[in-house]
Amino acid sequence: MPELPPLRDVVNRHGLLAQKSLGQNFLFDEQLLARIAAVPGPLKDADVLEVGPGPGGLTRALLRAGARVTAIEMDRRCLPALAELGEAFPGQLRVIEGDALKFDPAGLFGGPYHIAANLPYNVGTALFTGWLSGAAWPPRWQSLTLMFQHEVAERIVAQAGSDAYGRLAILAQWRASPRIAVKVHRSAFTPPPKVMSAIVHVTPAAMPAGVSARTLERVTEAAFGQRRKMLRQSLKGLPGALPALEALGIDPSRRAETLEIAEFVAIARAMSPANTGQT
Ligand code: SAM
Repeated sequence: MPELPPLRDVVNRHGLLAQKSLGQNFLFDEQLLARIAAVPGPLKDADVLEVGPGPGGLTRALLRAGARVTAIEMDRRCLPALAELGEAFPGQLRVIEGDALKFDPAGLFGGPYHIAANLPYNVGTALFTGWLSGAAWPPRWQSLTLMFQHEVAERIVAQAGSDAYGRLAILAQWRASPRIAVKVHRSAFTPPPKVMSAIVHVTPAAMPAGVSARTLERVTEAAFGQRRKMLRQSLKGLPGALPALEALGIDPSRRAETLEIAEFVAIARAMSPANTGQT
């Protein structure tokens, strides 16, 4: 295993002062980084897409685990530090300069790949939503290992009936299995953010048959758009939704947060074109 300088030295030598506008909160604790890199399971010779490597803390942990890493970073100040890391692990690191929000990773890998990232909140949530949406399932990625604000992580794994339960929980759970893998104290970051964080691990699960992802999205958008209202009110603008409730025996005076994910899936299935005779 190549000897690497401490991350703080790398940051100082390359003048990588954390920039708030880029959501930069760096991790320097190598034990913590090794724990995060272990979350997806064994990575020897596996492809990993890392978004936002920054000075390369998580990157070096992934490389040490034997992964082949493709890293997308939009701050070009980080590129020389990442190039040094690539020299220490020949043939294992490919760095792409760019904005991950404008980048389609589909063409980067010939086979399945894992995704790992410690990203700014807004970027992480947008990418997460994109990776979990779409008609095609299972996805090309094998797992997601992503840092979120702890409150967002709670919303991803939330169960029906809790305050945290909503569209994000349903998106993350109807055809995938998320869990909070590591809680990360704010003091682990430089500079420390205001709130606690957590690593969420997600693996794809079987997709329920006969359900359109787009229809389910429309149902949850309407239902949780007015989460305190009864379903008969929140879903009334959605063609086919109230007849679906009736056909399924779901009481229209219930509110969105009381419905299990399987009930939302059943509503979307009943409304899907193949089940209503529409095209
Ligand atoms: N992974 C490093 C770590 O754990 O120490 C850096 C984490 S820092 C929270 C987020 C990184 O994502 C920064 O290096 C930032 O420049 C990069 N970043 C922010 N938005 C991005 C985007 N849209 N595309 C690619 N990288 C981005």
